[in-house]
Amino acid sequence: MTKKIFLSIVSICTISVLAAIILVTAIIYGRSAEIAEAEVRTDARLIASAVEQNGMGYLDKTDIGKNIRVTWIAPDGSVIYDTNGDPDSLGNHSDREEVSQALEIGEGSSSRYSHTIMKKTVNHAVRLRDGSVIRVSGVHSSLTAELVKGVNPMLAILAAVVLFSVLAASMVSRNIVKPINDIDLAHPKIEKNYKELAPLLEKLRTQNNKVSRQMDELQSSREQFSLMTESMTEGLIIADPKLMVLTCNSSALKLLGAGSFTEGQSIYALNNSDVFRRCLLNALGGRRSECILRTGGGQREVIASPANSIDMVCGLVVFIMDVTEKQELEAMRREFTSNVSHELKTPLTTIYGIADMLANGMVQSGDVAEFGGNIRSEAERLINLINDIVSLSKLDEDAVPHENESVELYSLAEEILGRLKLSAEEKGVVTSLSGERVSLVGSRTILSEVLYNLCDNGIKYNVKGGHLSVKISHVPQRVIIMVSDTGMGIPKQYLNRIFERFYRVDKSRSSRIKGTGLGLSIVKHGVIYHNGTVKVESEEGKGTVFTVELPIEKKQHNE
Ligand code: ADP
Repeated sequence: MTKKIFLSIVSICTISVLAAIILVTAIIYGRSAEIAEAEVRTDARLIASAVEQNGMGYLDKTDIGKNIRVTWIAPDGSVIYDTNGDPDSLGNHSDREEVSQALEIGEGSSSRYSHTIMKKTVNHAVRLRDGSVIRVSGVHSSLTAELVKGVNPMLAILAAVVLFSVLAASMVSRNIVKPINDIDLAHPKIEKNYKELAPLLEKLRTQNNKVSRQMDELQSSREQFSLMTESMTEGLIIADPKLMVLTCNSSALKLLGAGSFTEGQSIYALNNSDVFRRCLLNALGGRRSECILRTGGGQREVIASPANSIDMVCGLVVFIMDVTEKQELEAMRREFTSNVSHELKTPLTTIYGIADMLANGMVQSGDVAEFGGNIRSEAERLINLINDIVSLSKLDEDAVPHENESVELYSLAEEILGRLKLSAEEKGVVTSLSGERVSLVGSRTILSEVLYNLCDNGIKYNVKGGHLSVKISHVPQRVIIMVSDTGMGIPKQYLNRIFERFYRVDKSRSSRIKGTGLGLSIVKHGVIYHNGTVKVESEEGKGTVFTVELPIEKKQHNE
C-alpha cells in the first residue's frame, strides 16, 4: 500500500509538472506568434510608405536588418528588389497568397511552416500607389522548436520536482499507512484521524466477536466430545486420509500399548504392526475392515471404517475393543467341546469293542462276567461325566432353579460322608466331621455337589491310612467349610489350574484315579452361585486344604 501511494504521488506530480510546462510554453508561444505577426505587419507598412516616398533609394541606403526579408514586387508579379539577393533569379510572385491579396485588396498576409528548419515564416504585403507591392517576411520558431530549445531548463525543473515529490511521497505515504498498520486487529479502536476507517473497523470488531463466539462454541463442543470419548472403554481414533491422527482417546492408547500421541502424528506411531497397517489400508480403500491385534498382553479387535464424502474417503474412524476375555472364552468353549468329545469317545470306544467281541462270540463264557464288569465301569464313567457336564452347564447358564431354602451344612456334610463311606473304607481313609450346626440360605442340590466333590477328591487323592476331615464353622454373617486331607497334595505349579474344566494334575497319576476333571469346576461355580469364595492350600506329599467361605444370607440373583 505504501508503495502504491508513493508511486501515485510521484507520477501525479511528474505528469502535472510536465503538463504545466507544455501548457505554459504553448500559451507563451501563441502570444509571441501574435507579436511577431504584428511586428511584420508594422514593418511592412512603414517600409511601404518609405519606398513610396523615396523609391529604390530607401531600400539601397537603409540597413533593413537580418531578421526580416523585404521584397518589392512589380504589379505583374516580377520581383524588383529582394534583400536576400538577385531579384532576377526569383520567379513571378503574383501567385503568393499575401501578394495576390495585396494586389487585390491593398494588404495581405500569410504564414508558412518549414518542417526542415522547424520554423514558421510570417509574410505581410502592402500595395503601393503605383500598383507594386512591398512584402516583409519574418521568421518565427515553431512550438516544437521552442520546446526543444527549452528542454534543458525543463528537464532541470522536472528533475527537481521529481526529487521533491519522491521525498514528499515517501513521507506522506508513510504517514498515511502508519495508523493503518498500528491498528490492533484483535481490538480495533476507531482512530480520530481516520474517520473513514470507522465502518471497516466496526465490521472488523463485529467479525472478531463472531469469530471468538464461534471459537468458544467450538472449544466447548471439543471439550464435550473429548469428555465423552474419554469415558469410553473402547478406543476411538479419527484420522485424516493421510492417516494423521486428528483425535485419539486414552483408551485407544492403552489398548494399543502406545505411550502418548500428539495431534497430527501418524497413526502408525500408535501401532506399527503389519496386521494394523493392512486393516487401515483396506479401510482407506473404502471398505470397512476388521482385525485382531495382540498388544499389551491382550487381544484387541480393531474396526476401521472409512468416512466417505461424495465418492472419496475423507478420513478413517477406528474403534478398538478389548476382546481378550471374549477370545479366551471362545478358546475355552472350543477346548471344552473337544474335551467333552474326547472324554465321551474313550469309554464308548471301550464299550463298543467289548460289545463287538461279545456279539461275535469271541468271549469265552468264563470271561463274560469280567467283560460285563468293564462295560458297567465304562458306562458308569460315562454317566458320571454326563452328570458333571449337565451340572456344570446348568451352573454356566444360570439354569439352576433359584432355590432359597435353608440348608443346614453340618447335617449335609454328614449325609455326604455317609454316601462316601464305602469308597473311604476301600481306600483306607478315615473321615471325620467337626464344627457347629450352621444354616444358610441357598440351593441344597448345589451345596451338596460342592461338598461331595471336595470330599470325594479328599478320599480319591488320599493315601492308605490317610485322613479326611470336614469342619463347619460359623463366623459373623458367614460359614466356613474346611475340607482337609493328608493325601498326595498338589504341586504348587498346578494350583492355579485345578479349577479349570477337564484339567487333571499330572495325567499319569490321574489316570490311576478315576475322574472327569470337572469336579473342582463344579465346586468353583457352585460357590460363585452362592456369592462365596474358595481357596486351596496344598503341600506335595502332605495334603491339601480347601476352604470355602459362604455368606449366610445369599444375595438374590437377578432373575
Ligand atoms: P477329577 O475328576 O480329576 O478329580 P477335579 O476337577 O475334581 O477333577 O480335580 C482336578 C485335579 O485336581 C485332579 O485331577 C487332581 O489331580 C487335583 N486334585 C483335586 N483335589 C485334590 C486333592 N484333594 N488332593 C490332591 N489333588 C487333588
